[in-house]
This record gives sequence, structure tokens and C-alpha cells, in this order.
Amino acid sequence: MSATPSVFVSHGSPMHALQPGPAGEAWKALGRRLGRPRAILIASAHWETDAPMLTGASKPQTIHDFYNFPEPLYRLRYPAPGAPQLAQRAQALLREAGFGASIDGTRGLDHGAWAPLLYAYPEADVPVVQISVQPALGPRHHFNLGRALRPLVDEEVLLIGSGHLTHNLRDWARGQGAPAPYAREFQDWVKQKLEEGDIDSLVDYRSQSPHGVRAHPTDEHFLPFFFALGAAPEQARPERVYDAIDAGVLAMDAYVFN
Ligand code: ZN
Repeated sequence: MSATPSVFVSHGSPMHALQPGPAGEAWKALGRRLGRPRAILIASAHWETDAPMLTGASKPQTIHDFYNFPEPLYRLRYPAPGAPQLAQRAQALLREAGFGASIDGTRGLDHGAWAPLLYAYPEADVPVVQISVQPALGPRHHFNLGRALRPLVDEEVLLIGSGHLTHNLRDWARGQGAPAPYAREFQDWVKQKLEEGDIDSLVDYRSQSPHGVRAHPTDEHFLPFFFALGAAPEQARPERVYDAIDAGVLAMDAYVFN
């Protein structure tokens, strides 16, 4: 089981849940490729907390955590069951690793979690637990979170990070058309560092990369990437399974680490 991959996806804007375009095809292919796990544990950029939190509800609700979007988007549901026992198991692993993790028994799944899963696992029959990100604690913390939860793959749990490879909403609001060179350069840099296995540079991306701060004015959307990286097998081979830039600035890359 040691080769069970971890996954990073860029979940797109909320509209991707309704009209995912090529990203939806990539998410479907990902689900077919990975097969049906016993459960999914997914870190989403849209749940920000001071310390790690896990969803513990047995029937997590679909949270529509966005405003002023078309009405059909609010009708989408992802009725996957929760997995309270998995949440407890994850909490125990995190506590063993020194993290003060807790469980939220009422929180549902936000669009960072359910939008890609709607396409990867459309039957919504695989139980899902979501874990929060801690924007104040940075990349290394999230790498370590993923690493602490790695043993769950032996229990057929798929570990996913859902964020964005680049995420500058100010640039997005300006409505760029052609892909911005900085987004391309940042994409290329991440891919290269992954191929070199240079985790230290990736963790320090804000000073080491070209345009890291512009790509992520705040880094909550990049933190799930480090979660997935930490959850990867030892000496994982990074495989970019999707690569696009939405609206000129939002890089949508997805990776399988196997
Ligand atoms: Zn998002």
C-alpha cells in the first residue's frame, strides 16, 4: 500500500462546480484512475482555522460558501456520507504528531472539497472528511499535517489537498485574457522543484520562487498543496495530470504524487 498516491487539485472558481469544462474532465479521469477508496480526507482552502479541525458529521451538508452566483449553483448538492470514525482516527494521528486537532460535529463540506469530488466521485458514495487549513502557520506546518496523516493510506483513505496553484483574486478581478507570464513562470517553477524533489525550496516559495507573492498574496489556497505533498509516499514521483490557466491568472494544475 505504500505507493498509494496523494493528490492536489485546483478547485477553480465556484462556477467550476456548475460548468467545470476541461477541469471537470480531468477530475473525472482522476476518479477513474484512482479507483474507489474506502474514504476521502480532503484539505480545503475554504476552511480556515487557528488549529486543525476535522468534520465529524455523519451526513455533512453541502455548504454554498459563495455569494452572487447563478441560482443553479446553489441547487448543487454533494450528499456523500461523512466518516466520524475516520475523523477520530485522524485526530488521534495528529495528536500523536503533536498537533492540537479537534472535531467539528456540524460543519459540512465547502466548495473547495465538493466541487472536484462532484466530478471525481459523482456517485457521492465514498465517505468524506474535510480538514481545515491554518493560514497563520504556513507551508511547513501543512506538509507535516499531511505527513502525520499518511498512515491512513494503509486503511484505503485517499488524501487530497484542494486549493489553487496560483490565486491572485485582484488580478482575476481585472479580467485578464491571455495567460499572465508570471502565472506560467510560477507553474513551471513548482513543476521543476517537484521534479527535483526540492521540498525545502517549495516550502520557502515566497522567497525562493519567481512571483510567489504575486501568485499568492495570501497563501491559504496554496497550503493544501503542501498537505498533499506531505501526504505523498516517500520519494514520490510528481505527475501533473492537469495544467491550465483560468481567466488568465488562476493556474488550475492538478498533481498526483505516486
Ligand atoms: Zn477557492
